Amino acid sequence: MRLVVLGGGESGVGTAILGKSKGYDVFVSDFGKIKNNYKEVLLINGIAWEEEKHTADLILNADVVMKSPGIPDRSPMVKQLLAKGIPVISEIEFAAPFTQATIVGITGSNGKTTTTMLTHHLLKSAGLNVGLGGNIGKSFAWQVADNKYDSYVLELSSFQLDGIDKFKPHIAIITNISPDHLDRYEYNYDNYIAAKFRITMNQTEEDYLIYDADDEAITNWLKNNTTKAKLIPFSLTQTFSEGAFIKDNKMEVKITKDEFTMDTEHIALEGKHNMKNAMAATSVARLMQIRKATIRESLSDFQGVEHRLEKVLKIQNVQYINDSKATNVNATFFALDSMNTPTVWIVGGVDKGNDYNELMSLVREKVKAIICLGVDNKKIIDAFGNVVDMMIEVTNMNDAVRMSQRLTEKGDTVLLSPACASFDLFENYEDRGRQFKQAVKSL
Ligand code: ADP
Repeated sequence: MRLVVLGGGESGVGTAILGKSKGYDVFVSDFGKIKNNYKEVLLINGIAWEEEKHTADLILNADVVMKSPGIPDRSPMVKQLLAKGIPVISEIEFAAPFTQATIVGITGSNGKTTTTMLTHHLLKSAGLNVGLGGNIGKSFAWQVADNKYDSYVLELSSFQLDGIDKFKPHIAIITNISPDHLDRYEYNYDNYIAAKFRITMNQTEEDYLIYDADDEAITNWLKNNTTKAKLIPFSLTQTFSEGAFIKDNKMEVKITKDEFTMDTEHIALEGKHNMKNAMAATSVARLMQIRKATIRESLSDFQGVEHRLEKVLKIQNVQYINDSKATNVNATFFALDSMNTPTVWIVGGVDKGNDYNELMSLVREKVKAIICLGVDNKKIIDAFGNVVDMMIEVTNMNDAVRMSQRLTEKGDTVLLSPACASFDLFENYEDRGRQFKQAVKSL
């Protein structure tokens, strides 16, 4: 069997190694450059590769093609493969049949990484031999090749899910759905929602789907479509006989007869959105029979993930918070919602068709000044120009942070939560977050 891997990044190289170990004739083709450390791995494993081109003759003879999630379906090579009827699948689809491990799959528009890391933390702290993969860290396929784990917690983007056919997680989570990446879905929101729900399409009666019952896109889909999985809802506003919810400042997870409860003030993560993430992760832990005391301890010591409402420093009693990963309006909504003191908000970047209306009342209530940091700030100025007293445009992070310091008084907060992509002024959101932290440290 010939396996062709399109894209020589983490998931591509991982798939190549797994394929090779299972006896496939493997070829890796990358239209860009392949990193040197990956080339070395391919060389050591005797796997052929090419870079900066796709040679049709070496690709169109594949029995199966694994496509990295970054490559869109509309790319010419993928179109040719599909026209020839050659299956084009994702890393997850290729790798899953080679492991017996229990799989937890986590998707959604926001909160995937946080929920995945937290779930992994809960299971690992309880002593399970559990791997972490998908969009995070080491490729899932690579870990399957190493055959190290009894269970995996996988972060699954809609692109990963587009490339599945038979894959199913034993436990699925859909954290929430709001418009994002619509350029990859013919600008049709329903297509994007459908892509997220592929996570449950192969689940059976033995499996579970944990979902945000406050999310309209999710509940509408569930009304109009079916899944065989057992449903476990979580909510901030409703209660359930089976599910997870917040009542009287307590998180309650009722899944087994033995109900789990915990004071929300003892949960280390802050913000309403993180209560949702905590409910989803705790539901998994309870389904996997982790002891309540162990879960409580892990929820109270989980320190969060870099660039997600990350507390950087307090300077002259002003708290600086890095939420650079907020690349859409919904993520920023929850960031602003969790601000407790007057906030100087640094916002802007590459607009993704943002509608700022949903932020209006939060901005009115919490934001004392806005610093626009992007190449095109027009939409932000139009939306909030009359809402806040002070609005300033800057062109780099150092100026943004210095300016924010000038606008604060003791007790205020400075929040970087851009609601936009970062590619105008930065390499990526990590670069943006690091520059923010650096600028804060040098104040
Ligand atoms: P993803 O991996 O889906 O991008 P992250 O955990 O990296 O999600 O968080 C992305 C952004 O969304 C961060 O700004 C974070 O604070 C915010 N966020 C985290 N969880 C949620 C949630 N459940 N709902 C809305 N926003 C969230």
